[in-house]
Amino acid sequence: MPPQIALVTGGTGGIGTAICQQLSSQGYRVVAGYLPGDTESAKAWQERLLADECQVEIEAGDVACFDSSQTMVRSIESRIGAVDILVNCAGITKDKTLRNMEHEQWQAVIDTNLSSVFNVTRQVIESMSSRGFGRIINISSVNGQRGQFGQTNYSAAKAGMHGFTMALAQEVARNGITVNTVSPGYIQTEMTMAVPKQIRNEIVQGIPCGDMGQPHQIAHVVGFLCSVETSYITGANIPVNGGMYMSF
Ligand code: NAP
Repeated sequence: MPPQIALVTGGTGGIGTAICQQLSSQGYRVVAGYLPGDTESAKAWQERLLADECQVEIEAGDVACFDSSQTMVRSIESRIGAVDILVNCAGITKDKTLRNMEHEQWQAVIDTNLSSVFNVTRQVIESMSSRGFGRIINISSVNGQRGQFGQTNYSAAKAGMHGFTMALAQEVARNGITVNTVSPGYIQTEMTMAVPKQIRNEIVQGIPCGDMGQPHQIAHVVGFLCSVETSYITGANIPVNGGMYMSF
């Protein structure tokens, strides 16, 4: 049997890289999605992974745009094959209190973090359904569960992602497709390193495990959800947050 194909959007980012490495180590054929225009840095990223004996394909696609997402997935299908596993990991932040938030800051975060999940998943769902297998994993955030000061746009998008997960999980459960959300807490990547140091220190003080998480800790959970053996886990949200927000 040829290896299953996994598409990781935002694959060249901090958490995305760890997910690509994890899935590749599990024997999947991995494609990292990246923003069109970033081809040179995506190729350099690919070379760095290859130097570590991790082979990952790359494919450009703007997940905030439906047509670009469609072109990305059709190109993967013709170059490599049908997507068996989709990890929706691309995301951005544009933090501002609502009173200072411009419409563009709202829209960009909704388009990139939430509409993107529709834009890309819509391209793979028919094919997964007809083949009777699929894994869709949406990377949300603890801040979608509990809200965060200065992040009405991001919190709304990340909470919406889980609504999408639960609804789609019901629609495709009988087609062998599971749909789940992974909600990271604060993970050490460029996204969180952009937060001012003093605020980061305050955040860490509120994490029971005593530190920020590492990308591989998210990747490990994604890898787990991809396996055939997890076919009875669907519509779930798996928090990976060092205990900073607990719910059931
Ligand atoms: P990151 O390093 O900034 O990675 C995000 C990736 O998404 C980047 O590769 C970025 O490409 C890509 N991207 C952005 N807009 C895109 C678009 N329109 N089309 C295609 N790709 C696009 O951030 P990260 O920390 O790894 O975050 C990954 C995911 O985890 C995000 O969804 C984030 O919200 C979520 N998350 C992160 C944390 C954390 O603490 N780090 C916590 C909770 C949730 P460029 O680099 O070219 O812009």
